[in-house]
Amino acid sequence: MSYDISKIRNFSIIAHIDHGKSTLADRMLLLTGMVSERQFQDQFLDDLDIERERGITIKARAVRMNYTRPDGVYTLNLIDTPGHVDFSYEVSRSLKACEGALLLVDASQGVEAQTVANTHLALENNLTIIPVLNKIDLPHARPDEVAEEVEHALGLDALDCILASAKLGTGTDEILAAIIDRIGPPQGDAAAPLRALIFDAVYNDYRGVIAYVRVYDGRVSRGAKIKMLATGQRYEVEEVGTFCPGMTPVESLAAGEVGYVITGVRELREVRVGDTIAPAKSESITPLPGFREPQPMVYCGLYPSQNQGFEALRKALDRLSINDSSFTYEPETSTALGLGFRCGFLGMLHMEIVQERLERESGIELIQTAPNVTYEIELTNGDVIRVRSAADAPDSGRIKEWREPIVRARFLAPSEYVGTIMRLAEERRAEFVKQDYLSPTRVSLEYDVPLAEIVYDFFDTLKGSTRGYGTMDYELIGYFPANLVKVSILINGEPVDALSVIMHRSVSQARGRRMVQRLKKNIPRHMFQIPLQAAIGGKIIARETISPMKKDVTAKCYGGDVTRKRKLWEKQKEGKKRMKSIGQVAIPQEAFLAVLSIRDED
Ligand code: GDP
Ligand code: MG
Repeated sequence: MSYDISKIRNFSIIAHIDHGKSTLADRMLLLTGMVSERQFQDQFLDDLDIERERGITIKARAVRMNYTRPDGVYTLNLIDTPGHVDFSYEVSRSLKACEGALLLVDASQGVEAQTVANTHLALENNLTIIPVLNKIDLPHARPDEVAEEVEHALGLDALDCILASAKLGTGTDEILAAIIDRIGPPQGDAAAPLRALIFDAVYNDYRGVIAYVRVYDGRVSRGAKIKMLATGQRYEVEEVGTFCPGMTPVESLAAGEVGYVITGVRELREVRVGDTIAPAKSESITPLPGFREPQPMVYCGLYPSQNQGFEALRKALDRLSINDSSFTYEPETSTALGLGFRCGFLGMLHMEIVQERLERESGIELIQTAPNVTYEIELTNGDVIRVRSAADAPDSGRIKEWREPIVRARFLAPSEYVGTIMRLAEERRAEFVKQDYLSPTRVSLEYDVPLAEIVYDFFDTLKGSTRGYGTMDYELIGYFPANLVKVSILINGEPVDALSVIMHRSVSQARGRRMVQRLKKNIPRHMFQIPLQAAIGGKIIARETISPMKKDVTAKCYGGDVTRKRKLWEKQKEGKKRMKSIGQVAIPQEAFLAVLSIRDED
């Protein structure tokens, strides 16, 4: 097909999770003949195993469709995006490659927290938004009311809403027509020097790094010499192509087009998402605006369950990080767990997904430590530092002020749950900001909440107490002073840094006690008495004691059977290998895990 930039439309679909993005994408693929009825499988674009099993989209996808109308053949590039709050970084990247967005709203559920957040992202990127009310086939669909919510909460015209059922295929033609008529063609000059934005990348064992690109100016062709502006590295293009929907080689991609570029790069670090591809010889090309680096919100330690797995884990992290550049990792040594990594994530779901992908895609068994947020500390000398783990926090004597991350959280729910949400928020040290009725039956509530209070289990708690109807989205507003303390654990009088935790003072007493109780359960008796203490600075807040063993274990062997005695000693030695010795106390790994693990069982 000949190249005509005026016939190209680049768009994405944005929505709250489960409102039907992937189903609509499948529908459009079917209607434009990209997949046949026979090939057609539900959620065609969600091809990661984990996406299929969980029924959610994690990675953005690009696919190219041809759509013929009396006025010509159009090229429509669709970029499917995930809807969960943790993955909005993926959404913001794909929006950069588009001129427009379909905003999908479930006509029975109405506008939800992520609908609002994604609409704001699209508006920030100056995209044309086409509101679509999906699932109108459902008996309890209320399209008129939801159209009003769209106008009230999002500032879009209710009359612009298209009624659709992705499931039945209703409205798909009208949606395709709107994409062509309402969204403008990309701007760009195919005759100018090449500028292409890398908006995503994947690693393939056979081909190396595959960069997903949107060409802004010029043309990238097979065999061309190019360079990556951020790294200055030069390459020869091995292959360019489009997603139809599988990778399909073409001679070149020109201004306005979306596709992939393979240069045979095997070094993952050489390709950066957000970088600009330019001609190898060019000197004065201005890079395209890249992406805001995502800020990790939650940290945890990831350790291979066998010590020798450290290098394998590093490889797995390197490999996964090219496909998901939004998590961070740095080597860390823990007294308890050996060599591992401190990893940063955008949220709890993100953390869970990364851990699961690491285990599946690289076959490594992982130990994960309790997650924590980043804290800011003003020192007595005036310096301000950020700490990502309690072990990094200085002595309390050097701390002038603790600050914790606060997020502005927006809750959307049917109005009968207002009281429930308010109670929930107050339990979590939240401060009320405002309340707004989107329609007589739906309400929006805003609170400022410490991130530490919502990051662990808040989402599940909210879902549980609102029968799944309450939704939440949040953004970081900054670090604010808080009454925080570092609770340290002392075993036989010696502080164990790996076990210290930062927490709000109001819960420190109870949690400190729980920590020493768990330790007591998991540390075997010794010949001597072992004090276990939780302390804030020099002040002990909880104490347990492991009483000494009464008699030698071998005593009951009557001193007669030597082989039996020896066997017992061997066994004890074996067991001790997997113990860490702190303050003359042998501590089994389970004891550390009982304190560090993410679950609060009791
Ligand atoms: P996504 O999370 O936005 O990608 O949503 P999915 O496309 O995975 O859809 C979520 C669920 O809604 C699936 O069970 C779909 O079968 C269902 N669904 C999607 N569109 C429609 C629709 O138009 N009508 C009905 N009744 N169900 C739909
Ligand atoms: Mg999906």
